[in-house]
Amino acid sequence: MSAQSAPVGANHPGSLRIDVLTIFPDIFEPVLGSSIVGRARSAGLVDWAITDIRDFADNKHQKVDDRPFGGGPGMVMMCQPIWDAVQWAQSQDERPVTAVHLTPQGEPCTQAIIEELAAKPRLLLLAGHYEGIDQRVIDRIEPREISIGDFVLSGGELPAMCLIDAVVRLLPGALGHEDSASEDSFSPMGEGDERLLDCPHYTRPRVWEGREVPGVLTSGDHGKVADWRHEQKLARTKDRRPDLLEPDSLKNDPPQT
Ligand code: SAM
Repeated sequence: MSAQSAPVGANHPGSLRIDVLTIFPDIFEPVLGSSIVGRARSAGLVDWAITDIRDFADNKHQKVDDRPFGGGPGMVMMCQPIWDAVQWAQSQDERPVTAVHLTPQGEPCTQAIIEELAAKPRLLLLAGHYEGIDQRVIDRIEPREISIGDFVLSGGELPAMCLIDAVVRLLPGALGHEDSASEDSFSPMGEGDERLLDCPHYTRPRVWEGREVPGVLTSGDHGKVADWRHEQKLARTKDRRPDLLEPDSLKNDPPQT
């Protein structure tokens, strides 16, 4: 391993540690280093180590992919560099690690899955590229496989960053206002832990191009505002995502810790 793959951060024992294995390590810091996620790292709530899989290739040209057996288009990421990178990452922290392979063939990501991951001490995210990763090393790692939607991206880097952002905003103290995550779409709320879409939001001016803010929001009656918001959440969910209201919806499963 070269000095380049030394962890970025990872200096706060007790905080959530996220290892990312990728062949494009440089694209993470500009995104993760800013806004809420960057501030959460500065506050010591999370730390990440972005590791270049290429640094673990045991061949002269740091080759990490090869042609697929059986023929066909594209290249396949090889077992050895990934397995060695996984073992190295695991050795960096003695807390149990939850490995996640970002893949369009994984379970569709939901807020309930994000809540589960946010409760873990360590995550190891594996980002694929090309046609994907040799199945034998996936079978050996036995990661949880997660998709960010039914579409195909060129690599697992953007999915990994989506997942990190969604996880970090749930860490206690990551958001300015304590309730702001619990009011968001898909967050469990109320006695039944309903996962509804969020209500519409408005800010100044009160009238914009002839369009007025709903009167209840300027009434000063907090009870009425809360009732109105809940009605709006229910109406939006019924209209846009009725599947969320089905009692046996998987999206309503409580998080497992
Ligand atoms: N041949 C694969 C297939 O059809 O399932 C697609 C490979 S894709 C071009 C390359 C990499 O991008 C994958 O290994 C995965 O890491 C990542 N990726 C692409 N789409 C994704 C998605 N919807 N969710 C999570 N990861 C995705």
